[in-house]
Amino acid sequence: MNNLEFFNRNEARDFINKNKPLAIIPTGSVEQHLNHLFIGMDINSATKIAEELANKFSKDAIFYRPLNVGIAEHHMAFPGTMTLRVNTFIGVLTDVANSLIRSGITKILFINGHGGNVEPMRTAMQNINLEMKGVHSNIDTSEVRTHVDYMELLNKDSKIDIKYTSYWEMHDPNFIKKIINDPSYPGHASEYETSVALHMFPNLVDKEAIKNDPLGTSTDATKEKGKLIYDDIIEKYSNIIQEMLTD
Ligand SMILES: [Zn+2]
Repeated sequence: MNNLEFFNRNEARDFINKNKPLAIIPTGSVEQHLNHLFIGMDINSATKIAEELANKFSKDAIFYRPLNVGIAEHHMAFPGTMTLRVNTFIGVLTDVANSLIRSGITKILFINGHGGNVEPMRTAMQNINLEMKGVHSNIDTSEVRTHVDYMELLNKDSKIDIKYTSYWEMHDPNFIKKIINDPSYPGHASEYETSVALHMFPNLVDKEAIKNDPLGTSTDATKEKGKLIYDDIIEKYSNIIQEMLTD
């Protein structure tokens, strides 16, 4: 697997220079997941998805996980939960994107596995994308009249392409309606997420505790649903990666 951390410096330089890979970066959280799922569910689910994609695109992708912890202030009543402040989290992601670009990697796909990261990341990713294009692309701004012209120029002339989504956003809503009963999908340690966990981490799910789920949304979870969901996630991300690579 093309995990950046396991290359030596010659291997990293040669792989990046020759293959011009896309970087796949998981983000998630270390936070309570009721009694039936493990605390590291969100970062480990995103990691497994990112690793599988890096394996599948072994010549064209590189995997790197800069952070385990995410933004989980709303779970801090439960010991073992970790949280970063929004500025810290976004600061690290910005610096990681900047370092990758300085290494010669211009395409970056962030795969998020945690609800609390969604809004901060959505705002941050738009700005990181623009900032990196502005800082690293040689764009002649002498003729620029408005900010709209500037944005057009950045998007047209820059090779930098930074994309971000959360894995549960990848599905067609009709696909989810067919297999998930829970109207609060994707939820937290819910039918959707618990199904994913039953497929990805069967030994880390406490099946007895599901019966007493205080939110009551995980009792319909099955590993079969989890496999359908997981396969769909990999298929949809593969399409995005394919598009990013051919751009
Ligand atoms: Zn979760």
